[in-house]
Amino acid sequence: MNILVLNCGSSSLKYQLLNMETEELLVKGLCERIGIDGYLKHTSDKDYESNVAMPDHEAAVKIVMDALIDPERGVLKSMSDVHAVGHRVVHGGEKFSDSVVVTDEVERAIDECSELAPLHNPPNLIGIRACKKIMPGVPNVAVFDTAFHAKMPEKAFLYAIPYELYEKHKIRKYGFHGTSHKYVSAVAAELIGKPYNSLKIVTCHLGNGASVCAIENGVSVDTSMGLTPLEGLAMGTRSGDLDPAVVPFIMQKEELTAGEALDILNKKSGVLGVSGVSSDFRDLSAAEKSGNARAKAAMDMFCYRVARYVGSYAVAMNGLDAIVFTAGIGENDIAIRERICAYLGFLGVHIDNDKNNSRGKAVEISTSDSKVKALVVPTNEELVIARDTKAAI
Ligand code: ADP
Repeated sequence: MNILVLNCGSSSLKYQLLNMETEELLVKGLCERIGIDGYLKHTSDKDYESNVAMPDHEAAVKIVMDALIDPERGVLKSMSDVHAVGHRVVHGGEKFSDSVVVTDEVERAIDECSELAPLHNPPNLIGIRACKKIMPGVPNVAVFDTAFHAKMPEKAFLYAIPYELYEKHKIRKYGFHGTSHKYVSAVAAELIGKPYNSLKIVTCHLGNGASVCAIENGVSVDTSMGLTPLEGLAMGTRSGDLDPAVVPFIMQKEELTAGEALDILNKKSGVLGVSGVSSDFRDLSAAEKSGNARAKAAMDMFCYRVARYVGSYAVAMNGLDAIVFTAGIGENDIAIRERICAYLGFLGVHIDNDKNNSRGKAVEISTSDSKVKALVVPTNEELVIARDTKAAI
């Protein structure tokens, strides 16, 4: 069974084709500049790149299909060799606690969630509609970033605002990066060699977008992102937690609309905003080494917040068995892992510097006598989407 995994952004489309008998990755690729001009990067044993017109997502899906069945460079004989398509959908609101086969009703529900994720859900839906048109009869499955957090208790997901606002507008914490938190926590349990549903784990997904999740007995019981992916940690360009009164204050002082203020918090804040250097941790680390005080402040703030969340989630679960690092920074930045764990000694987290000297591999990095295990687990959201798609159909 071959499953195509699609992750549609506003002007991009990432894809992977997996053989789900073996879970082997057959090809992957990326379409960029959709609606502008169009660029395809197709990665297989016969890699190629091309500038090709992509006026919309439907055209991009068609180009991906052509690349998959290309007689010389493709990996499939015909389109009928794609047995299902799994779509990453960012926001499933309160409706979806699991992955589902897309029906007209599901499409409508995804559309209704668009106001909660205006940058993400509309392109996700466009991708689904393009596949329906180009591959009629092939089932589409929606896999939601929010679904893994659907069992969060009320005390964790409610905001302390009038309850009617929750009832009327569904304003509450939803959480994101669910497929990643689910995957890396399950792999961590395997590496530790204990049943998944017997562990208290905190997962730290540290990429451009970053979130922390408390997983007790296999269930997400709290997570740092909220109604939108802006809450929580200080991220590449996102502010994360702040006093909500800051928003009208900025609007008044800088004479901005709500949309402009939100743009600052989403795109010009986080470690980029504080450092004035970059959102990329490699640049920040180089700047810090060369004596840039604001780069150091940004990195210190980032690590402090991650550690604070880990501490608070140890309290939320009344214990901690393991902490897991993943995504670009979590998988690769040795010094950042060390700086975060330095706060957590009192909880029983102790890093072995030799074991921590590792990038991009699943590995335990704690000392053999560390009460709490620390691990690095490379994330694989596409594999979770493909597995869920197979299960759903
Ligand atoms: P996203 O998927 O949210 O765009 P990623 O998970 O790809 O983000 O993570 C991007 C981040 O990972 C960037 O800040 C980048 O600096 C960081 N990163 C990637 N490789 C390394 C590395 N070798 N050392 C330190 N940071 C790295």
